[in-house]
Amino acid sequence: MLETLRHIVQEVSAAEDVQSALDVIVSRVKEAMKTEVCSVYLRDKNSDRLVFMATDGLNKQAEGRLSLAKDQGLVGLVAKREEPINLDHASDHPAYKYLPDTGEEAFESFMGSPIIHHREVLGVLVVQQSKSRKFDELEESFLVTIAAQLAGVIAAAQVTGAIQPFKHASFQKNIQFKGSAGAPGVSVATGVVIHHASDLQAVPDKSCENIEEEVDFFRDCLEQVRQDIARLQEKFVKRIAKQEAALFNVYLQMLDDSAIGDEIIKKIVEDRRCAQSALADVIMSHVRNFELMDDAYLRERAVDVKDMGLRILAYLQEAEPTKHEYDEPVILIGEELTASMLGEVPRDKLVGLVSVKGSNNSHVAILARSMNIPTVMGVEGLPIHKLNGLPLIVDGYHGHVIANASDNIRQRYLDFQEEEKLVNKGLELLRDLPCETLDKYRLPLLVNTGLMTDVMRSLEQGAEGVGLFRSEIPFLLNDGFPSEEEQRDIYRTHLEVFYPRPVTMRSLDIGGDKSLPYFPIKEENPFLGWRGIRVTLDHPEIFLVQIRAMLKANEGLGNLQILLPMISGVGELEESLELIHRAHNELLLDGLETPLPKIGVMIEVPSAVYQMRDLAKRADFFSVGSNDLTQYLLAVDRNNSRVSRLYSHYHPAVLRACYIVAQEAKKAGKPVSICGEAAGDPIAAVLFLAMGFDALSMGAANIPRVKSMIRFIEYPHAKKILNAVLSLDNTQDIEDYLHRNLHDISITPVLKPISPM
Ligand code: PEP
Ligand code: MG
Repeated sequence: MLETLRHIVQEVSAAEDVQSALDVIVSRVKEAMKTEVCSVYLRDKNSDRLVFMATDGLNKQAEGRLSLAKDQGLVGLVAKREEPINLDHASDHPAYKYLPDTGEEAFESFMGSPIIHHREVLGVLVVQQSKSRKFDELEESFLVTIAAQLAGVIAAAQVTGAIQPFKHASFQKNIQFKGSAGAPGVSVATGVVIHHASDLQAVPDKSCENIEEEVDFFRDCLEQVRQDIARLQEKFVKRIAKQEAALFNVYLQMLDDSAIGDEIIKKIVEDRRCAQSALADVIMSHVRNFELMDDAYLRERAVDVKDMGLRILAYLQEAEPTKHEYDEPVILIGEELTASMLGEVPRDKLVGLVSVKGSNNSHVAILARSMNIPTVMGVEGLPIHKLNGLPLIVDGYHGHVIANASDNIRQRYLDFQEEEKLVNKGLELLRDLPCETLDKYRLPLLVNTGLMTDVMRSLEQGAEGVGLFRSEIPFLLNDGFPSEEEQRDIYRTHLEVFYPRPVTMRSLDIGGDKSLPYFPIKEENPFLGWRGIRVTLDHPEIFLVQIRAMLKANEGLGNLQILLPMISGVGELEESLELIHRAHNELLLDGLETPLPKIGVMIEVPSAVYQMRDLAKRADFFSVGSNDLTQYLLAVDRNNSRVSRLYSHYHPAVLRACYIVAQEAKKAGKPVSICGEAAGDPIAAVLFLAMGFDALSMGAANIPRVKSMIRFIEYPHAKKILNAVLSLDNTQDIEDYLHRNLHDISITPVLKPISPM
């Protein structure tokens, strides 16, 4: 059975469109189950009817023309009950409804299984037989299993087929593809697919006569690519901070004779291979190695290596790399967008990015955020070859791409863009006003930073300091651990720019989904493994260098605060304090006059919530990392889209935990802020205000929205809302209550960027 199942699924996956996929399903299932009929009904979302889509055994002429209401007939019953129905006398069943023109009246036995994908009934798979008999358990289990396995394939085929005119017109409009939110904002423009003219896998294996000539030719091509990259780097330097432009150095190093270039030359010489096949061999073997790595950051490097390989190949094939003319704004789409591809489009024409592969860890997402380009990453199943020249919508808030948008939806997004511009203009006026309630209760808004580009935006938005400097970001962009001096420079710039406002620098928080290319951490359960403070306490040499760099950067300023990530008990805090004191004493002995900064603890592991009193005896302040706290309290991987429905900072347990932290900190007289994504949600911000948090720290873009919300509310009103919310026991009720009670004092883009279709 397993083998048959596997074959059917493979064959269906290879089908070009929904109809061919369904045709394969019905004929293969009929064959495998030795029945007389197999048919598929698919739910049409527009009419909410079950359409008779494909059959082997009934009248094929009726395909796509007949349908049942969602609760009609046995097929409707299967869909409604969401469970299989197996009958030996179908016509005796009260729900039986014979579908005219199909010829099904000749068949007495009926078995149907629902096709369910992510809780949604996509349709029903039916087998029928003329002789009255009940299908046995094995047959039932086969049908249920195949329906479950095919659900994903059908869902993917539906969206792919929907892009093109297709005989069942109802699937054509507003096709939504889900990825992850790479950079916020929305854009409406034409899609342009960027691809390389050459294909590494298609390079034929050839030997070569004149080795010397071939090596020279290869060296020339390498040099040309090197010059192209240097030109791109120059273009980028004008647009982005130095630190991010350093990504291009990584590319240039890869091209170095002593790195990949050398390996290729060796292959040409030793194996007497022509340059193209030597290049393809070497590059593809590196790509495969990178792709097999478990570490997300390292896997991204495969994209960079392939990009370089393709650029060289284009020269070797004496084909110019593809050049597009960009007269109109475009949304750039690629199988694997890379940082260098961004440079191919003039900045004023680049309004959106969509990448099939990659995550928000990818270089391209980091750059997109710093360049303010709405971006969606990791849109698996996106049929990109069909999107070139199509009008698209990129929703970088929710991580959605919409193709074939109806006029209505397109207008909604255009209106939203206008509204967003107006709101942003209006919000700009708030820049120099304090964040306080109508009755003058102050709530300072701080910013989360990591890149230098964040700094400029933070100041423009009126941030009152840095609540979280993610120090791992400069580490992620480097090719090795940055030296003490390099780190000191980066930290000093931050401290100076914000002076005299406070800057809270978190010590290196790697592990989980953040792994350094030059310090890979390979684990079965990385979020429950060697993360944050656990890594740095095991590597005091890394921790001490970082702390010394921070302390040195603080000399003569004094606005530094140090924050420790992933603390799960007092032991880790004590060890960290000891190391910080040691670094400080050493610097004092060296004659440096630098004060000991305030040292705080992130509350992001549930155990820390229950040890607040003990931690408060040793720490100067607290900051709640609601991203991880939500993940660990709810046992929901923050990066897993399958369980993302369950991940919510409105879960009563998350809100109660935050409230406990705020109360305990107050009792101990220690300041407490919150720096996870929840702090940047204007509605949740009202709750945190009422809980007694002393400050909120968020991405710069959220500051005006949160400020506008707080300035519209009175403190006692916020308290009333919090009390009501704390008495509710489920997430949905809490969200509904907040929506009802806060909607009136907010404007759409403040509340939620835009609600997806
Ligand atoms: C958090 O966990 O809420 C947090 C701010 O840290 P990070 O998102 O960097 O893990
Ligand atoms: Mg965290």
